[in-house]
Amino acid sequence: MIATLPAELASNPQPADVLRWAYGNFSRVAIVASFQAESSVIIDIASRIRSDLSVLTLDTGRLPQETHDMIDRVRERYQIEIQVVHPDAGEVQRIVTEHGANLFHHSPQLRRLCCDVRKSRPLDRALSGYDAWVTGVRRQQSATRAETQLFALDEHHNGIAKIAPLATWTKARVWDYIRANHLPYHALYDQGYTSIGCAPCTRATTAGEDERAGRWWWEQNEVKECGIHHSPNGRPYPLSASKKR
Ligand code: SF4
Repeated sequence: MIATLPAELASNPQPADVLRWAYGNFSRVAIVASFQAESSVIIDIASRIRSDLSVLTLDTGRLPQETHDMIDRVRERYQIEIQVVHPDAGEVQRIVTEHGANLFHHSPQLRRLCCDVRKSRPLDRALSGYDAWVTGVRRQQSATRAETQLFALDEHHNGIAKIAPLATWTKARVWDYIRANHLPYHALYDQGYTSIGCAPCTRATTAGEDERAGRWWWEQNEVKECGIHHSPNGRPYPLSASKKR
């Protein structure tokens, strides 16, 4: 039987209750952490429910050092294993050989190809062993995330459950929780970053800018998503056909 989120949880979604429900209804639950602020909150709440958390993260090969430092801090604080997922080395070699290491600057299509190879495909492979995944996506983060559901069946990952316990939270609420509980947080926030991804594709933002404005900041009128949460009509294009475009 397909699980559905109880009405009382949907109308009053406390993240701890949503996570407790997820662990009670799915046997293999993966927290997919980017180690941004939302990851700090989710891992902390989940650690109060379960001691045997499955946490996985994507090491694209282009992460800032501060993200690796943050992974170590969380690992030490919670004494949990963190599965670090890597892209396929052969696929990376092909796109870099064909388009260069900084292909993301050449066109939106090549940027999405890089995200596909370094993020989406590795996540696809990693989630094949799970029944549900937990993400820190919030509705308030961007227009593309405004419809984020607390619970959905993820058609992009074989129909497993996708759970967003913080979907209804504001940025202020996330930071209130971090401060109140003295949680570790990513060091780049103290340098003006408001959203953090790969080093070459993320910059600090200024007052008044959208929270995700620092991601792929050179792109105009493009969807500021890597494809994990918002797929632009399937794969950017097949790896083998990438030269033809
Ligand atoms: S964020 Fe940039 S470097 Fe990272 S996978 Fe996407 S395009 Fe590649």
